[in-house]
Amino acid sequence: MSKGFYNVPVAVNEPVLSFVPGSRERSELQAALRELRGREVELPMVIGGREVKSGKLERMFPPHEIGHTLGYYHQGDATHVRMAIEAAMAAREAWAALSWEHRASIFLKAADLLAGPYRARMNAATMLGQSKNAYQAEIDAACELADFFRFGVREMTRIYQMQPESARGIWNYNEFRPLEGFVYALTPFNFTSIAGNLPAAPALMGNVVVWKPSKTAVYSAGVIMDIFREAGVPDGVINLVFVSGPVGADVVLTHPDFAGIHFTGSTGVFQSVWKKIGENIYKYKSYPRIVGETGGKDFIFADATADRQALAVAMVRGAFEYQGQKCSAASRAYIPASIWPDVRERVGKMLAEVKMGPPEDFTNFVNAVIDESSFDKLCGFIRQAEADQDAEVIFGGGCDKSVGYFIEPTVIQAFKPDYITMEEELFGPVLTVYVYEDEKLDETLDILDRTSIYALTGAIFSQNRYHIEKYTQRLQNAAGNFYINDKPTGAVVGQQPFGGARGSGTNDKAGSLFNLLRWVNIRTIKENFNPPHQYLYPNFAPDKQ
Ligand code: NAD
Repeated sequence: MSKGFYNVPVAVNEPVLSFVPGSRERSELQAALRELRGREVELPMVIGGREVKSGKLERMFPPHEIGHTLGYYHQGDATHVRMAIEAAMAAREAWAALSWEHRASIFLKAADLLAGPYRARMNAATMLGQSKNAYQAEIDAACELADFFRFGVREMTRIYQMQPESARGIWNYNEFRPLEGFVYALTPFNFTSIAGNLPAAPALMGNVVVWKPSKTAVYSAGVIMDIFREAGVPDGVINLVFVSGPVGADVVLTHPDFAGIHFTGSTGVFQSVWKKIGENIYKYKSYPRIVGETGGKDFIFADATADRQALAVAMVRGAFEYQGQKCSAASRAYIPASIWPDVRERVGKMLAEVKMGPPEDFTNFVNAVIDESSFDKLCGFIRQAEADQDAEVIFGGGCDKSVGYFIEPTVIQAFKPDYITMEEELFGPVLTVYVYEDEKLDETLDILDRTSIYALTGAIFSQNRYHIEKYTQRLQNAAGNFYINDKPTGAVVGQQPFGGARGSGTNDKAGSLFNLLRWVNIRTIKENFNPPHQYLYPNFAPDKQ
């Protein structure tokens, strides 16, 4: 029971360490990489605080070095999902009743553990398991996840402060209680921070959670779970299971206590989940909250006034950092013919310098894509573009999976604006450019707006303020996160709340108050200090004679 209106520590974005040669963080990270490479781990599931081993071991390996074994995890089945739901429901009453400041303390401590003693291990696990270079791991696994925890706590208190007015003689207040059931956190491979935040956000608001990470991000999920446990998340509040997507969905989405899903991943999977929820709607005790951030076909649109060097840098960083495996990655660009030769030359110059290889070599800007099916799919699109009349591969195009899943940063020039790689999310290091005639700018804006089903991120480059205003208005439905003269990636918690509309998701803005509101039920309480003792209102009195 709280006995005060407590101020939580001021939330500040975790500073991004530089890892320059000779720095302490660089040597700590290198030591952690050596340590993790030097031993094979065995990862159990964690259900009700117990380590659960199925005995069915699956190998974990770096996408950039498929012959090396990082360890094994215990693959679960439907019985483990049921166990996890039972454990969550058993933990629910005590967790829901715990005062908010104690939930806050746990996640503030988790942030400090992550930013401090766990930082190198968390980054190293993400680098090895998901093939991220040091900088990409740092901004994701260390900084963004710590920001999610700290800003989450602040935003939770802002929600608790959202209270109604009270007229004289009565007192009204809102109580924000957790959902009546458990929340399913279904997480993607590409961001360790998202994998950690999807179970943490509902738990912070008092919910119990079953968490199923992606099979290609189990290695870092194990470290996140260690942090949760050391920070003091009680047994059963977050339960980690390693099962396939369909197995998890079959048990969770048909369970009467299913109260919500916190999902990030592809649009197709989200739509299949939503459909299954619809089919089972009569089974649930309450209407489940459905929160999903999904795919993107994120654009860069430039006009003739654009700063060409800034544009070229945004194209290279936006499209190729983390091998383009960001939901926000720039994957289609619209460049006017008048500046294209210059922009093309600048992009080509940078790509000629870009180094590709394992993240353990800190000079590599580009590492491997996540798995073989992604590699084969991406390579297929590139080979197709080489063969098609409507497109030309102008940079990159090389694919090699002999050691790891390496795909060169590739730029395709499309000669028609609805060429397949301008429309479909490929999720890899492939940028498609459509060069438009300068006088067809308005038409090109219309084409951009209707070309894909997505509306996640987009960037415009212009130095003319009237143009900037026009594009911002014209493209208002085309992106949930809109950038002016900047790359469309790299949203920071607390600064650019993230999420998109149309096919890109429910746009609940991860890390913000809007998202956290989805994990509570509001009870409004009215107390009357002077309840009426007569049932008739004064107007019922008869006229005076
Ligand atoms: P994915 O959809 O393949 O997997 C996401 C999760 O769903 C995983 O845990 C997976 O095991 C599970 N899953 C897979 N098939 C399932 C099924 N049939 N039923 C139930 N669960 C199933 O996504 P991914 O490849 O891990 O991540 C990449 C995708 O995520 C991209 O489309 C990307 O744009 C999107 N993404 C979006 C955001 C955002 O904020 N909008 C952020 C990161 C990633």
